[in-house]
Amino acid sequence: MSKIQLCDKYRCTQCMACVNACPKHCITMVDAGEGFDVPKINDGACIECGACTKVCHGISPIGEYYTPLKTLACWTKNDEDRKRSSSGGAFSVLARRVLSDNGMVFGATMDANLQVKHICIDNAEDIVKLQGSKYVQSFMGDTYKQVRDLLRQERLVLFTGTPCQVGGLLAFLRKKYNNLITCDMVCHGVPSQKAFDAFCERTHLKDRCQGVSFRFTAGWGYQLACELVAPTQAGDSDSTHVVRKVVNPRNAWYMRAFNKGLMFNETCFSCAYTIPQRVSDFTMADYWGLGAKIPFNHPTHRGVSMLLINNQKAMEIINNCPDLFFEERTLEEAIEGNHNLSHNSERPIGRDTFIHDMQTMEINALIRKYGIKESLRDYLRLLKQWINSKRV
Ligand SMILES: Cc1cc2nc3c(=O)[nH]c(=O)nc-3n(C[C@H](O)[C@H](O)[C@H](O)COP(=O)(O)OP(=O)(O)OC[C@H]3O[C@@H](n4cnc5c(N)ncnc54)[C@H](O)[C@@H]3O)c2cc1C
Ligand code: SF4
Ligand code: SF4
Ligand code: SF4
Repeated sequence: MSKIQLCDKYRCTQCMACVNACPKHCITMVDAGEGFDVPKINDGACIECGACTKVCHGISPIGEYYTPLKTLACWTKNDEDRKRSSSGGAFSVLARRVLSDNGMVFGATMDANLQVKHICIDNAEDIVKLQGSKYVQSFMGDTYKQVRDLLRQERLVLFTGTPCQVGGLLAFLRKKYNNLITCDMVCHGVPSQKAFDAFCERTHLKDRCQGVSFRFTAGWGYQLACELVAPTQAGDSDSTHVVRKVVNPRNAWYMRAFNKGLMFNETCFSCAYTIPQRVSDFTMADYWGLGAKIPFNHPTHRGVSMLLINNQKAMEIINNCPDLFFEERTLEEAIEGNHNLSHNSERPIGRDTFIHDMQTMEINALIRKYGIKESLRDYLRLLKQWINSKRV
């Protein structure tokens, strides 16, 4: 048996740095039982070189954290980008900045089979593929190797993802690159792709839609919507177009289970990154709690991002982003409104059984058992969004 020990399900974030680093290609990711993968070493092929443990941020934490220099409430001045974003579109501003300097941008997309994975884009038309939060673990594949290759070719790279994906990348690189910009987010936790697949299967979204939007908003808030392929003219099955339909709040129980943490990876409950000190150059989030104590004198109904400028590199970039409207706020306000900036998500009691039950239990019984019934607020939100869509 190999002496090499990688992370178990309590520590592994599925970053795949170990897989990317292994010279013998003898690590595979296997389901640890709840839909989340952990690495498995093929002992027969392993030469015990230790490359995998050296790059694992769960075993050898990167150790460098930044205390944010500035906290911004902000949004993009590009209206189309703001509409497509989860909050104010801070991500799209950074992406446009990097792409205009001939750089490459990495982030999470959802493909037509509703699978979430990291991809790289090199032109502004593709920003749309990365916009919007996908509340599903993004598959990393050989992303870290791709990033390293581009950095070595001296290309400018923006890498975006959850804080553990950035931490994993930095541990994998083990070297500072001036041409790397990193942006993470305040992170509540992630459900697995398998949990999302089960939800899509059970709500019959799987065969009918090409994409799911978790934050379909005219304004901000949580609203599941799907992209359906429909005939362009009634009865004309040869010509089709994509229409966006809001998922009936009754069927949108995935979002309520997400908010309660019922499907999160075990690792999320002891996450090393839910602190105000950050691993990335930038941190983005929804600006919950904006103006609660110190007035904010701008309309917010179209979504506002919270953006932390964590170091001097980020400061220089942001000073060169004329498309960003921003107002400086306090870190205390951001922390008060967004508990995952200072605390882990709490492990709810139902976490032990929900992941299994969501695949087998009758839906109404599931909703009752876990208290994830839609509320009047869910319907009112739809009404509010419709009203917001009429406002300028
Ligand atoms: C799993 C998850 C948990 C989150 N938890 C919180 C939270 O607790 N509090 C909070 O305020 N905000 C949270 N966010 C962030 C928030 O939803 C917005 O992404 C953020 O405010 C940025 O919005 P935006 O308008 O600038 O950009 P958008 O266009 O909405 O965001 C796109 C960016 O998000 C990245 N992204 C999208 N889905 C994923 C994914 N599955 N994995 C990795 N990266 C992804 C893309 O790569 C891109 O960089 C979370 C996001 C995710 C994906
Ligand atoms: S010790 Fe070396 S060969 Fe063995 S799994 Fe790790 S990286 Fe691969
Ligand atoms: S490198 Fe990443 S995938 Fe591999 S064991 Fe560590 S945390 Fe898990
Ligand atoms: S909560 Fe922590 S471990 Fe879980 S996805 Fe977010 S950053 Fe990764």
